Amino acid sequence: MARRRSPRTITGMPRRPRQALLLLAASSLLAGPSGAQDARSAEFRQIAPDLYFNFDFGGSNSAVLITEEGVLVVDTRMHPDDAEDLLAEIRKYTDAPIRYVVVSQHHGDHYMGNSVFEREGAIFIAHPDTKKVIEERFQFEVETRPFADRGQDPDAVALVLPDILFDSRATIELGGRTVELIYLGAGQNEGDTLIYFPHARALHTGGVFHNRSWANTSYAPSFEGWVNVLRAIKSIGAEVYMPPHGDLATEADLDVFTDFIEKISTGVRAAVDAGTPLDDMLEELVFDEYRDWRGYERRERNLRAIYQRMTDGEAQYFVPAGRPQPVSGN
Ligand SMILES: [Zn+2]
Repeated sequence: MARRRSPRTITGMPRRPRQALLLLAASSLLAGPSGAQDARSAEFRQIAPDLYFNFDFGGSNSAVLITEEGVLVVDTRMHPDDAEDLLAEIRKYTDAPIRYVVVSQHHGDHYMGNSVFEREGAIFIAHPDTKKVIEERFQFEVETRPFADRGQDPDAVALVLPDILFDSRATIELGGRTVELIYLGAGQNEGDTLIYFPHARALHTGGVFHNRSWANTSYAPSFEGWVNVLRAIKSIGAEVYMPPHGDLATEADLDVFTDFIEKISTGVRAAVDAGTPLDDMLEELVFDEYRDWRGYERRERNLRAIYQRMTDGEAQYFVPAGRPQPVSGN
């Protein structure tokens, strides 16, 4: 489907026919070894009469809007098994069709369950940069995600690309509710999409804001840009923040994460400016205050990547096609 000018309003029926509802039965057959099942456990929490937050500490979070006209899902989790679990939760509340899936970012742990919702007839919406990197990076994601630890079959993952693209703003009307898609620029990734539910003053923050979680910062095109987006989020007017990783959050948590992104980038910058060798810097920059955060074990790998790009300008990690190598100082 062609990319259209934004802002735009998206309404109407799904393009694909909806198939029979066999999902509750199907998902009950998916229970694997108890360890694997525990690794996939998630909580489906109601945060407004029609809005739910699927909290998966070990995986990734989703948001779900349920209306009489249909359902909108933000992010389909890491694997079709996870998506089946999410769908089973939704089916406890409604038989309404799954109309839309918003793909908030290009990391595989947020979209590799797409095929389950495609089967349900959903239309997929994303930012063009998200689609571009998903296409470019899909095979790598399938090969590198910890499916074995979760008792999941990598071969079950299918590539499902977005149908509709939006540039900066789009509005989805569904069942008397309005959902706003907002792109304020790259945070953790190009294409990071914010999804706002004004009636609940709730915001899903794409890859931009993670709550008490050491996000993988290796992809970020610019830390300055990331901090700017984090600050700009406040003007949206949300009271509840639904992060892609970590628990439900408040504006105070947003400030803590903004501070974190500033601290790690300025910390490495200062070390580089002082001529501190990499190994010495890694010993010094312990960031003890984040030790209990999810993903703290990424500290060394992430700091090394920031150091490297601030010294020789080369990214240690993936840089999307067409984006210049990170500029020193970013
Ligand atoms: Zn993630």
